[in-house]
Amino acid sequence: MNFDINRIRADFPILHEKMRGGKSLVYFDNAASAQKPQSVIDAVCRFYSHDYANIHRGAYQLSERSTSEYENARAKVSKFFGAPENYCTVFTSGATESLNLVAQSWGWNNLKDGDEILLSEMEHHANIVPWQIAAQHTGAKVVTAKIRHDGSLDMDDFEKKLSSKTKIVSLAHASNVLGCVIDAAKVSKLTKAAGALLSLDCAQSAPHFLDGISQTGADFVSVSSHKIFGPTGSGALIAKREILDSMPPYRGGGDMIESVSWLGTTYRPAPERFEAGTPNITGAIGFGAAIDYIESLDRKAAEAHEKELLARLTDAMQSIKGLRIFGTAPNKVPVVSFSIDGIHPNDIAVMLDASGIAIRTGHHCAEPLMNTLGLQGTSRASLAFYNTIEEVDYFTKTLDHAVSILR
Ligand code: PLP
Repeated sequence: MNFDINRIRADFPILHEKMRGGKSLVYFDNAASAQKPQSVIDAVCRFYSHDYANIHRGAYQLSERSTSEYENARAKVSKFFGAPENYCTVFTSGATESLNLVAQSWGWNNLKDGDEILLSEMEHHANIVPWQIAAQHTGAKVVTAKIRHDGSLDMDDFEKKLSSKTKIVSLAHASNVLGCVIDAAKVSKLTKAAGALLSLDCAQSAPHFLDGISQTGADFVSVSSHKIFGPTGSGALIAKREILDSMPPYRGGGDMIESVSWLGTTYRPAPERFEAGTPNITGAIGFGAAIDYIESLDRKAAEAHEKELLARLTDAMQSIKGLRIFGTAPNKVPVVSFSIDGIHPNDIAVMLDASGIAIRTGHHCAEPLMNTLGLQGTSRASLAFYNTIEEVDYFTKTLDHAVSILR
């Protein structure tokens, strides 16, 4: 396989950090946030050292340089996510802001009493709460499609819930708890046939290089830079330009206006209409650098490596007595949520941490899903292409040992 894991790991300085007791770091919390390659760290440092100024408004060379880097980063994001010509990339602070932008600017102005917003049981709070707020403002109703026992979206229930009342379908492309990936093309076809718009929360699918926008046919796509190896505080909403241009501003301020007077204000088209004030310029530059890094990889090989890691982890975990994995559908990103009979998830995390292993426990910002599963929380190991087979083996051995002590 054309995938040199040692060379790749050398690109990520933090992976060589030692944890308490001199243990090597095993970073299995990638679904929460991914680590950064040196090239992203350098890009941020270089930008601040050589090209930094505010964008768009400065009549001097440095501002031109800064503006051009910011707009280049936008072009990289559009290309990476396979945005067709008629789509536009708006920089946001992350998937949460992107989803709020859609729910407020589109939702508050297009929904009314009797309309329905179709979500699923496996959504992250970022794709629930903005819609609940939109429902409160408009009188529309939030409806949820069920998941099956294996964690996949129940397409029969989805079709049952999709109706002429549905004005927007907003779904996680991949679940941050179950790892399960929806059949976006099928969802999109059904959604379009029902006359509704499709918003995809791609926070968890983007790090695993899943389908581009043209394959999914989504009208709105929300992503976070920090989950795909870029800086925090940056992200994007990639959406159909025609829809964005029909939406009112989400926030007011500088740079988003055509003209302002005491009689009223006119707005610029997207993307500027939705980027009021000084944006996270450096975050966008780092986001672009993260995309450059990903594009330098053999993505097919990286994907195959992740699949191998997931299969090995899932297999080995099954031999631990009393362990249950949530999300067993075949189409999954490498996210494994689990519980162990009689042991609290936090106790597991503490034991693993003592061995240098970083995992996450809790409700993973998906409390309604926890209710569906009848759980308070789970432990979650989430992998990236820079993780290794040796780390997976060390994790399962340490987990097995922790379970034997905690029982
Ligand atoms: N959607 C999903 C599925 C997520 O997993 C997350 C974060 O974990 C978000 C949205 C929100 O992302 P952010 O906190 O980067 O805005």
